Amino acid sequence: MPFIITDPCIGTKDTACVDVCPVDCIHPRKDEPEFETATMLYIHPDECIDCGACVPACPVAAIYDSVDSTPASQKTLVDANKVYRAGDAATVAEAEGIVKAHVESHADLMAIAAEKRAESHGK
Ligand code: SF4
Ligand code: SF4
Repeated sequence: MPFIITDPCIGTKDTACVDVCPVDCIHPRKDEPEFETATMLYIHPDECIDCGACVPACPVAAIYDSVDSTPASQKTLVDANKVYRAGDAATVAEAEGIVKAHVESHADLMAIAAEKRAESHGK
């Protein structure tokens, strides 16, 4: 069961998780061309080894440890993590489209500062 990055990453995107991931499955990295325009980062579901190192590293509690533990308000972002593939423009665009739709349909969450947003995920 892969780990999932959710919406507190939007507006934060500090790559602290990338620095601790032992298998380089979080993208885009700062040295990848998609980084500048990416709305958030994504975990490759097949490459993640469920080590858990990224969770305490994230300053805004954006990462959940499974699809099942991801709150209902964040479920569409499971698909964004699932489709994103660094270096593949089509999947990058698809993932970003999912995130854009999430942002547009969750104005309430987006109005909350990133560091407080996860506290409201389950509400
Ligand atoms: S759980 Fe481990 S392998 Fe999976 S994304 Fe986080 S740091 Fe990387
Ligand atoms: S540590 Fe958290 S906020 Fe920073 S890039 Fe990773 S998921 Fe996004």
